Amino acid sequence: MARIKQEREIPVVAGYDVVVCGGGPGGIIAALASAREGAKTCIIERYGFLGGMATAGLVAPISVFNYNGRRIIDGLPWEFVERLAAIGGAREEKPLGNITFSPEKYKLVAQRMLKEAGVDIYFHSYITGAEYEKDPDGNSRIRYVIIDNKNGAEAIAGRYFIDATGDSDLAAMAGVPMQPVPEQLQPASLIFMLSGVDTDALPMIRHSQQGVNYHDLMIRDLFTKLREEGTEDVPMFGGPWYCGILADGIVLVNMTRHFADMTDNRVAGEMECLLRENAHRYTELLRKYIPAFKNAELIATAPMTGIRETRRILGAHTLTGEEYLEAIDFPDSVARGCHPVDIHSANSTSQRCQFMKDAGFVPYRSLYAPSFPNLLVAGRNFSADEVASASVRVQASVMGLGQAAGTAAAIAAKGNTGVDKVNTDTLRARLLELGANLSN
Ligand SMILES: Cc1cc2nc3c(=O)[nH]c(=O)nc-3n(C[C@H](O)[C@H](O)[C@H](O)COP(=O)(O)OP(=O)(O)OC[C@H]3O[C@@H](n4cnc5c(N)ncnc54)[C@H](O)[C@@H]3O)c2cc1C
Repeated sequence: MARIKQEREIPVVAGYDVVVCGGGPGGIIAALASAREGAKTCIIERYGFLGGMATAGLVAPISVFNYNGRRIIDGLPWEFVERLAAIGGAREEKPLGNITFSPEKYKLVAQRMLKEAGVDIYFHSYITGAEYEKDPDGNSRIRYVIIDNKNGAEAIAGRYFIDATGDSDLAAMAGVPMQPVPEQLQPASLIFMLSGVDTDALPMIRHSQQGVNYHDLMIRDLFTKLREEGTEDVPMFGGPWYCGILADGIVLVNMTRHFADMTDNRVAGEMECLLRENAHRYTELLRKYIPAFKNAELIATAPMTGIRETRRILGAHTLTGEEYLEAIDFPDSVARGCHPVDIHSANSTSQRCQFMKDAGFVPYRSLYAPSFPNLLVAGRNFSADEVASASVRVQASVMGLGQAAGTAAAIAAKGNTGVDKVNTDTLRARLLELGANLSN
């Protein structure tokens, strides 16, 4: 491939104690935690709104806050849900603690809470580079992130950085080693929104409960039969799962699926085209065969295709499925998860669900990589194997990771210490004060 060399001067437009990269569920709560702890904090997001998969991917519901009816993910994540509920933007389904929400109210509450906490928000800013230096001990310290927006290229200086991009974009640019790539990543899915649905005829939250794989079996069986018989063109699908947005007749449908490495721009572009075609095709099929969808109109596809799995960092500790499913409580446990292990097949309509015996734990060491003393991660890119990641990646637990990473970054900033040197007793004590549930 031909290459060009470009030399350019980039203005350093601001500096922060903590720079949060990515404004999804992990990043929002990380920025909130960091700012509330007194660190000068900003958040950088490529879209013009916060929420990540929750809003840009139209992924709903927020799963799951509870295990056996008891709240496991607590503190700032739950405060966020309460703020959303206070303006009619969230409704809890018990006993799982699944949250159906309004994506528009989600965007509003997220920006309000961050602004109230004093977080500077950089919207429409794509993180495209990291400037870092190596010290004599071989440690890499990030000094600036480069963002590209309408103003051109800009550099933002930071003392500490939190990679909440889901895809580990910042960590990859800074040279952090990644987990080995699994044989097949979980598939991507473009979620679409239908109006005119007879929502009274559909159970609105279709999700995995303990012992029950909660997709719509009637529609699944029908589409499987149509696919096998070849009577209709039925693209690959998963689920299907539906969730409302607290508005009459409106349903989000999660059923398109295709395998893709969504960190490759060209692959991701092709995937958007294919899955958009498929969303329209499914709308036709649902209208034709399912009475509740007879009058359905496709009113939106999500601004971006939903990504279940990409790069995860190789952290100081890689949380394994065994540790997680056995609910091993680490001396430095800082977050928890209680969703079933949920692995969607890359090349078939199936899904492998493993139900938890108890809520699992995430150690602080899974949030940073050795030799990167000013970088933490907050989100599905934390250091875990495929099994542990397939549970913790859901939104409530990712918010819990954000709470831990944001609090830890602020503590590190106060003490001017490496993230690996943060006293985990102090961190855990602070998380407990915030309301986190770190024990059975
Ligand atoms: C199809 C599908 C269905 C799912 N179903 C559920 C479900 O029912 N319940 C549930 O709770 N979870 C579900 N999940 C999982 C969940 O939505 C995600 O795992 C979770 O949102 C991850 O949060 P995050 O903060 O790590 O990343 P994300 O939500 O992906 O947020 C990352 C943010 O970073 C921004 N960003 C990324 N790269 C850059 C860059 N270079 N520059 C600037 N900004 C950047 C993105 O725009 C985004 O806002 C589902 C996921 C998918 C794909």
